[in-house]
Amino acid sequence: MAAILRGLGVGPGDEVVTQAYTCVAVPEGIMAVGATPLFCDIRKNGINMDPGHLAEVITPKTRAVIVQHTFGYPADLAPIARVCDEAGVPLIEDCCHTLESQYNGETVGSFGVAAFYSFEWGKPLACGIGGAITVNRATLQEEIEQAVGEQLDPPIARRLRVALQYAVFRIAYRPSTYWALKDLFGFASRFRLAEGNYNPMNTGEPSPEFAYGMLRSVERRLERQLSVSIAKAERAIAQASLIKDCLQRFDHQPLAERPGDRVVPVRLPLRVSDKQRFLALARQHRVEVAEWYATVVHPLQPDEQRLVAYAAGSCPVAEQSCREIVSFPVVSADDRYLASLATLLKAYNAR
Ligand SMILES: *Cc1c(COP(=O)(O)O)cnc(C)c1O
Repeated sequence: MAAILRGLGVGPGDEVVTQAYTCVAVPEGIMAVGATPLFCDIRKNGINMDPGHLAEVITPKTRAVIVQHTFGYPADLAPIARVCDEAGVPLIEDCCHTLESQYNGETVGSFGVAAFYSFEWGKPLACGIGGAITVNRATLQEEIEQAVGEQLDPPIARRLRVALQYAVFRIAYRPSTYWALKDLFGFASRFRLAEGNYNPMNTGEPSPEFAYGMLRSVERRLERQLSVSIAKAERAIAQASLIKDCLQRFDHQPLAERPGDRVVPVRLPLRVSDKQRFLALARQHRVEVAEWYATVVHPLQPDEQRLVAYAAGSCPVAEQSCREIVSFPVVSADDRYLASLATLLKAYNAR
Protein backbone atom coordinates (compact mmCIF):
# COMPACT_ATOMS: atom_id res chain seq x y z
CA MET A 1 0.00 0.00 0.00
CA ALA A 2 2.86 2.37 0.83
CA ALA A 3 4.25 1.57 -2.64
CA ILE A 4 0.96 2.64 -4.27
CA LEU A 5 1.04 5.91 -2.35
CA ARG A 6 4.68 6.51 -3.30
CA GLY A 7 3.86 5.69 -6.91
CA LEU A 8 1.15 8.36 -6.78
CA GLY A 9 3.72 10.84 -5.46
CA VAL A 10 2.12 11.06 -1.99
CA GLY A 11 4.50 12.31 0.70
CA PRO A 12 5.00 14.65 3.65
CA GLY A 13 2.36 17.38 3.96
CA ASP A 14 -0.22 15.30 2.08
CA GLU A 15 -3.30 13.66 3.54
CA VAL A 16 -4.79 10.26 2.76
CA VAL A 17 -8.32 9.28 3.78
CA THR A 18 -9.09 5.87 5.22
CA GLN A 19 -12.09 4.63 7.17
CA ALA A 20 -12.33 4.31 10.91
CA TYR A 21 -13.19 0.72 11.91
CA THR A 22 -9.94 -0.60 10.46
CA CYS A 23 -6.61 -1.92 11.70
CA VAL A 24 -3.48 0.05 12.43
CA ALA A 25 -1.69 -1.41 9.38
CA VAL A 26 -3.63 1.02 7.17
CA PRO A 27 -2.65 4.35 8.82
CA GLU A 28 0.80 2.81 9.36
CA GLY A 29 1.20 2.51 5.57
CA ILE A 30 0.02 6.10 5.09
CA MET A 31 2.46 7.36 7.71
CA ALA A 32 5.30 5.27 6.22
CA VAL A 33 5.35 7.66 3.24
CA GLY A 34 5.22 10.69 5.54
CA ALA A 35 1.55 11.51 4.89
CA THR A 36 -1.16 12.14 7.49
CA PRO A 37 -4.19 9.82 7.81
CA LEU A 38 -7.68 11.34 7.82
CA PHE A 39 -10.51 9.16 9.08
CA CYS A 40 -13.90 8.80 7.44
CA ASP A 41 -16.82 7.31 9.35
CA ILE A 42 -18.73 4.22 8.25
CA ARG A 43 -22.38 4.02 7.30
CA LYS A 44 -24.97 3.52 9.97
CA ASN A 45 -25.78 -0.20 10.22
CA GLY A 46 -22.91 -0.92 7.84
CA ILE A 47 -19.19 -1.62 8.10
CA ASN A 48 -17.89 0.42 5.15
CA MET A 49 -17.09 4.03 4.27
CA ASP A 50 -19.93 6.57 4.35
CA PRO A 51 -19.74 8.58 1.08
CA GLY A 52 -21.55 11.51 2.70
CA HIS A 53 -18.94 11.81 5.43
CA LEU A 54 -16.15 11.30 2.87
CA ALA A 55 -17.20 14.49 1.08
CA GLU A 56 -16.83 16.35 4.39
CA VAL A 57 -13.49 14.84 5.32
CA ILE A 58 -11.61 15.49 2.05
CA THR A 59 -9.55 18.71 2.05
CA PRO A 60 -7.45 20.42 -0.65
CA LYS A 61 -4.42 18.59 0.81
CA THR A 62 -5.97 15.13 0.31
CA ARG A 63 -4.00 13.10 -2.26
CA ALA A 64 -5.70 9.68 -2.07
CA VAL A 65 -8.69 7.83 -0.62
CA ILE A 66 -8.36 4.23 0.54
CA VAL A 67 -11.65 2.35 0.49
CA GLN A 68 -11.83 -0.86 2.53
CA HIS A 69 -14.12 -3.77 1.67
CA THR A 70 -14.53 -4.73 5.29
CA PHE A 71 -14.83 -8.50 5.97
CA GLY A 72 -15.35 -8.92 2.19
CA TYR A 73 -18.53 -6.82 1.98
CA PRO A 74 -18.02 -4.42 -0.96
CA ALA A 75 -18.06 -0.74 -0.08
CA ASP A 76 -20.61 1.38 -1.95
CA LEU A 77 -18.15 2.24 -4.70
CA ALA A 78 -20.31 4.33 -7.05
CA PRO A 79 -20.99 7.26 -4.70
CA ILE A 80 -17.49 6.98 -3.20
CA ALA A 81 -15.89 7.16 -6.67
CA ARG A 82 -18.12 10.15 -7.46
CA VAL A 83 -16.88 12.06 -4.41
CA CYS A 84 -13.28 11.20 -5.33
CA ASP A 85 -13.76 12.29 -8.96
CA GLU A 86 -15.30 15.58 -7.94
CA ALA A 87 -12.34 16.26 -5.65
CA GLY A 88 -9.84 14.99 -8.25
CA VAL A 89 -8.44 12.45 -5.76
CA PRO A 90 -7.43 8.90 -6.79
CA LEU A 91 -9.21 5.95 -5.18
CA ILE A 92 -7.27 2.94 -3.87
CA GLU A 93 -9.05 -0.28 -2.86
CA ASP A 94 -8.10 -2.24 0.25
CA CYS A 95 -8.94 -5.80 -0.82
CA CYS A 96 -7.23 -7.51 2.13
CA HIS A 97 -10.52 -9.22 3.07
CA THR A 98 -11.63 -10.42 -0.33
CA LEU A 99 -10.37 -11.38 -3.76
CA GLU A 100 -13.66 -12.37 -5.33
CA SER A 101 -16.46 -10.12 -4.05
CA GLN A 102 -18.35 -8.18 -6.70
CA TYR A 103 -19.98 -4.77 -6.76
CA ASN A 104 -22.64 -4.35 -9.46
CA GLY A 105 -21.31 -7.41 -11.27
CA GLU A 106 -17.66 -6.41 -11.28
CA THR A 107 -14.93 -7.80 -9.07
CA VAL A 108 -13.62 -5.43 -6.40
CA GLY A 109 -10.10 -4.24 -7.00
CA SER A 110 -11.01 -3.06 -10.50
CA PHE A 111 -12.65 0.23 -9.48
CA GLY A 112 -9.75 2.30 -8.15
CA VAL A 113 -6.40 3.23 -9.69
CA ALA A 114 -4.87 0.32 -7.75
CA ALA A 115 -5.72 -2.25 -5.09
CA PHE A 116 -3.77 -4.09 -2.42
CA TYR A 117 -4.09 -7.54 -0.87
CA SER A 118 -2.68 -9.32 2.17
CA PHE A 119 -1.96 -13.03 2.68
CA GLU A 120 -1.48 -13.15 6.41
CA TRP A 121 -3.29 -15.28 8.96
CA GLY A 122 -6.98 -14.58 8.95
CA LYS A 123 -7.13 -13.35 5.35
CA PRO A 124 -8.96 -15.19 2.56
CA LEU A 125 -5.69 -16.78 1.39
CA ALA A 126 -3.45 -17.34 4.41
CA CYS A 127 0.06 -18.02 3.10
CA GLY A 128 2.31 -16.41 5.68
CA ILE A 129 3.41 -12.80 5.67
CA GLY A 130 3.18 -10.80 2.46
CA GLY A 131 0.87 -8.95 0.13
CA ALA A 132 0.22 -7.96 -3.46
CA ILE A 133 -0.76 -4.93 -5.52
CA THR A 134 -2.81 -4.75 -8.69
CA VAL A 135 -2.67 -1.63 -10.84
CA ASN A 136 -5.48 -0.45 -13.11
CA ARG A 137 -3.93 2.67 -14.56
CA ALA A 138 -1.20 1.91 -17.11
CA THR A 139 0.69 5.12 -16.41
CA LEU A 140 0.99 4.17 -12.76
CA GLN A 141 2.52 0.74 -13.30
CA GLU A 142 6.10 1.93 -13.69
CA GLU A 143 5.94 4.37 -10.79
CA ILE A 144 4.64 1.69 -8.47
CA GLU A 145 7.21 -0.86 -9.62
CA GLN A 146 9.88 1.69 -8.91
CA ALA A 147 8.40 2.47 -5.51
CA VAL A 148 8.35 -1.22 -4.61
CA GLY A 149 12.05 -1.05 -5.49
CA GLU A 150 14.73 -3.47 -4.49
CA GLN A 151 13.28 -5.70 -1.81
CA LEU A 152 15.45 -7.26 0.82
CA ASP A 153 15.26 -10.79 2.12
CA PRO A 154 13.96 -10.69 5.69
CA PRO A 155 16.51 -11.63 8.37
CA ILE A 156 16.83 -15.35 9.07
CA ALA A 157 15.25 -15.14 12.55
CA ARG A 158 12.15 -13.62 11.01
CA ARG A 159 12.05 -16.26 8.30
CA LEU A 160 12.16 -19.01 10.90
CA ARG A 161 9.43 -17.37 12.96
CA VAL A 162 7.17 -17.07 9.92
CA ALA A 163 7.78 -20.71 8.97
CA LEU A 164 7.11 -21.91 12.50
CA GLN A 165 3.98 -19.82 12.81
CA TYR A 166 2.62 -21.13 9.53
CA ALA A 167 3.26 -24.71 10.63
CA VAL A 168 1.51 -24.15 13.97
CA PHE A 169 -1.39 -22.46 12.20
CA ARG A 170 -1.78 -25.36 9.77
CA ILE A 171 -1.49 -28.10 12.35
CA ALA A 172 -3.29 -26.64 15.35
CA TYR A 173 -5.86 -24.17 14.03
CA ARG A 174 -9.50 -25.17 14.20
CA PRO A 175 -12.39 -22.96 15.25
CA SER A 176 -12.40 -24.81 18.58
CA THR A 177 -8.71 -24.02 19.24
CA TYR A 178 -9.08 -20.33 18.33
CA TRP A 179 -9.07 -18.98 21.88
CA ALA A 180 -6.17 -21.15 23.02
CA LEU A 181 -4.09 -20.22 19.95
CA LYS A 182 -4.97 -16.55 20.35
CA ASP A 183 -3.59 -16.63 23.90
CA LEU A 184 -0.52 -18.58 22.82
CA PHE A 185 0.13 -16.20 19.93
CA GLY A 186 -0.25 -13.13 22.13
CA PHE A 187 2.22 -14.65 24.60
CA ALA A 188 4.70 -15.67 21.86
CA SER A 189 4.60 -12.23 20.21
CA ARG A 190 5.34 -10.54 23.51
CA PHE A 191 8.54 -12.56 23.76
CA ARG A 192 9.29 -12.12 20.04
CA LEU A 193 8.87 -15.83 19.36
CA ALA A 194 6.21 -15.01 16.77
CA GLU A 195 5.67 -12.18 14.34
CA GLY A 196 2.90 -10.08 15.91
CA ASN A 197 0.01 -8.90 13.77
CA TYR A 198 0.79 -5.25 14.38
CA ASN A 199 3.92 -3.17 14.60
CA PRO A 200 4.38 -0.75 17.50
CA MET A 201 3.37 2.76 16.42
CA ASN A 202 5.35 4.74 18.98
CA THR A 203 8.85 4.36 17.49
CA GLY A 204 8.53 7.44 15.28
CA GLU A 205 9.73 5.69 12.14
CA PRO A 206 8.43 3.10 9.68
CA SER A 207 9.04 -0.55 10.48
CA PRO A 208 11.95 -2.22 8.58
CA GLU A 209 9.26 -4.59 7.22
CA PHE A 210 8.47 -2.13 4.47
CA ALA A 211 11.77 -3.02 2.75
CA TYR A 212 11.26 -6.80 2.89
CA GLY A 213 10.17 -8.87 -0.06
CA MET A 214 7.93 -11.91 0.06
CA LEU A 215 9.54 -15.17 1.11
CA ARG A 216 9.86 -17.80 -1.63
CA SER A 217 7.92 -20.28 0.51
CA VAL A 218 5.05 -17.78 0.85
CA GLU A 219 5.14 -17.10 -2.90
CA ARG A 220 4.83 -20.80 -3.66
CA ARG A 221 1.89 -21.20 -1.30
CA LEU A 222 0.25 -18.15 -2.81
CA GLU A 223 0.53 -19.54 -6.34
CA ARG A 224 -1.05 -22.77 -5.19
CA GLN A 225 -3.85 -21.01 -3.31
CA LEU A 226 -4.59 -18.58 -6.12
CA SER A 227 -5.32 -21.51 -8.39
CA VAL A 228 -8.19 -22.56 -6.09
CA SER A 229 -9.32 -19.07 -5.13
CA ILE A 230 -12.54 -19.22 -7.16
CA ALA A 231 -13.56 -22.57 -5.71
CA LYS A 232 -12.72 -21.25 -2.26
CA ALA A 233 -14.98 -18.24 -2.85
CA GLU A 234 -17.90 -20.49 -3.81
CA ARG A 235 -17.36 -22.44 -0.64
CA ALA A 236 -17.20 -19.24 1.43
CA ILE A 237 -20.56 -18.11 0.06
CA ALA A 238 -22.15 -21.46 0.91
CA GLN A 239 -20.63 -21.55 4.42
CA ALA A 240 -21.67 -17.94 5.08
CA SER A 241 -25.21 -18.78 4.19
CA LEU A 242 -25.21 -21.64 6.74
CA ILE A 243 -24.00 -19.23 9.43
CA LYS A 244 -26.68 -16.70 8.46
CA ASP A 245 -29.35 -19.41 8.72
CA CYS A 246 -28.07 -20.32 12.16
CA LEU A 247 -28.15 -16.67 13.31
CA GLN A 248 -31.69 -16.22 12.05
CA ARG A 249 -32.84 -19.36 13.79
CA PHE A 250 -31.80 -17.65 17.02
CA ASP A 251 -33.40 -14.31 16.09
CA HIS A 252 -30.21 -12.49 15.16
CA GLN A 253 -30.14 -10.48 11.94
CA PRO A 254 -27.01 -10.75 9.80
CA LEU A 255 -25.74 -7.61 8.05
CA ALA A 256 -27.91 -6.58 5.09
CA GLU A 257 -26.37 -7.07 1.64
CA ARG A 258 -26.91 -4.70 -1.26
CA PRO A 259 -28.89 -6.30 -4.08
CA GLY A 260 -26.53 -6.76 -7.03
CA ASP A 261 -23.51 -7.44 -4.83
CA ARG A 262 -21.79 -10.77 -4.60
CA VAL A 263 -20.41 -10.94 -1.08
CA VAL A 264 -17.54 -13.37 -0.51
CA PRO A 265 -16.96 -12.78 3.19
CA VAL A 266 -13.85 -13.76 5.09
CA ARG A 267 -15.77 -13.19 8.31
CA LEU A 268 -19.46 -12.89 9.00
CA PRO A 269 -20.25 -9.87 11.20
CA LEU A 270 -23.06 -9.57 13.72
CA ARG A 271 -24.16 -6.66 15.91
CA VAL A 272 -24.87 -7.74 19.47
CA SER A 273 -26.13 -5.66 22.35
CA ASP A 274 -23.64 -7.03 24.88
CA LYS A 275 -20.40 -7.73 23.03
CA GLN A 276 -18.34 -8.43 26.16
CA ARG A 277 -20.77 -11.06 27.40
CA PHE A 278 -20.97 -12.59 23.92
CA LEU A 279 -17.16 -12.89 23.76
CA ALA A 280 -16.92 -14.28 27.29
CA LEU A 281 -19.48 -16.97 26.44
CA ALA A 282 -17.65 -17.73 23.19
CA ARG A 283 -14.40 -18.25 25.07
CA GLN A 284 -16.14 -20.39 27.66
CA HIS A 285 -17.75 -22.59 24.99
CA ARG A 286 -14.57 -22.54 22.84
CA VAL A 287 -16.36 -21.12 19.84
CA GLU A 288 -14.31 -18.94 17.49
CA VAL A 289 -15.70 -15.41 17.60
CA ALA A 290 -13.46 -12.46 16.81
CA GLU A 291 -13.64 -9.12 18.59
CA TRP A 292 -11.92 -7.08 15.91
CA TYR A 293 -12.22 -4.36 15.35
CA ALA A 294 -12.32 -3.71 19.09
CA THR A 295 -11.30 -0.07 18.58
CA VAL A 296 -11.61 2.28 15.57
CA VAL A 297 -7.94 1.73 14.69
CA HIS A 298 -7.50 -1.77 16.05
CA PRO A 299 -5.73 -2.61 18.35
CA LEU A 300 -4.86 0.95 19.44
CA GLN A 301 -6.49 1.95 22.72
CA PRO A 302 -8.17 5.38 22.92
CA ASP A 303 -5.09 6.94 24.55
CA GLU A 304 -2.88 5.65 21.70
CA GLN A 305 -5.05 6.89 18.83
CA ARG A 306 -3.24 10.21 18.63
CA LEU A 307 -0.27 8.20 17.27
CA VAL A 308 -2.24 7.82 14.02
CA ALA A 309 -3.96 11.24 14.23
CA TYR A 310 -7.41 9.86 15.07
CA ALA A 311 -9.43 12.46 16.98
CA ALA A 312 -11.73 10.88 19.58
CA GLY A 313 -15.39 11.27 18.66
CA SER A 314 -14.70 12.13 15.01
CA CYS A 315 -16.26 8.89 13.69
CA PRO A 316 -19.11 8.09 16.09
CA VAL A 317 -20.68 5.31 14.02
CA ALA A 318 -17.35 3.46 13.84
CA GLU A 319 -16.84 3.93 17.58
CA GLN A 320 -20.27 2.52 18.34
CA SER A 321 -19.71 -0.39 15.92
CA CYS A 322 -16.55 -1.37 17.78
CA ARG A 323 -18.69 -1.80 20.89
CA GLU A 324 -21.24 -3.97 19.04
CA ILE A 325 -19.78 -6.06 16.22
CA VAL A 326 -18.41 -9.57 16.61
CA SER A 327 -17.55 -11.83 13.69
CA PHE A 328 -17.55 -15.51 12.82
CA PRO A 329 -15.05 -17.40 10.65
CA VAL A 330 -16.48 -18.39 7.29
CA VAL A 331 -14.34 -20.96 5.48
CA SER A 332 -13.57 -23.03 8.58
CA ALA A 333 -17.25 -23.13 9.59
CA ASP A 334 -17.93 -26.85 9.34
CA ASP A 335 -20.86 -28.76 10.89
CA ARG A 336 -19.11 -28.92 14.21
CA TYR A 337 -18.63 -25.18 14.22
CA LEU A 338 -22.26 -24.56 13.36
CA ALA A 339 -23.36 -26.82 16.22
CA SER A 340 -21.13 -24.96 18.68
CA LEU A 341 -22.36 -21.62 17.35
CA ALA A 342 -25.93 -22.73 18.01
CA THR A 343 -24.98 -23.59 21.59
CA LEU A 344 -23.39 -20.19 22.03
CA LEU A 345 -26.38 -18.29 20.61
CA LYS A 346 -28.71 -20.24 22.84
CA ALA A 347 -26.61 -19.42 25.91
CA TYR A 348 -26.42 -15.76 24.90
CA ASN A 349 -30.16 -15.48 24.33
CA ALA A 350 -30.96 -17.13 27.65
CA ARG A 351 -31.00 -13.90 29.58
C1 LIG B 1 -4.58 -7.20 7.21
C2 LIG B 1 -5.07 -5.93 6.69
C3 LIG B 1 -4.21 -4.97 6.15
C4 LIG B 1 -2.72 -5.05 6.14
O1 LIG B 1 -2.14 -6.22 5.87
P1 LIG B 1 -0.59 -6.46 6.19
O2 LIG B 1 -0.28 -7.60 5.32
O3 LIG B 1 -0.49 -6.70 7.65
O4 LIG B 1 0.11 -5.20 5.81
C5 LIG B 1 -4.77 -3.82 5.64
N1 LIG B 1 -6.09 -3.62 5.65
C6 LIG B 1 -6.94 -4.50 6.16
C7 LIG B 1 -8.40 -4.18 6.15
C8 LIG B 1 -6.47 -5.68 6.70
O5 LIG B 1 -7.32 -6.56 7.23
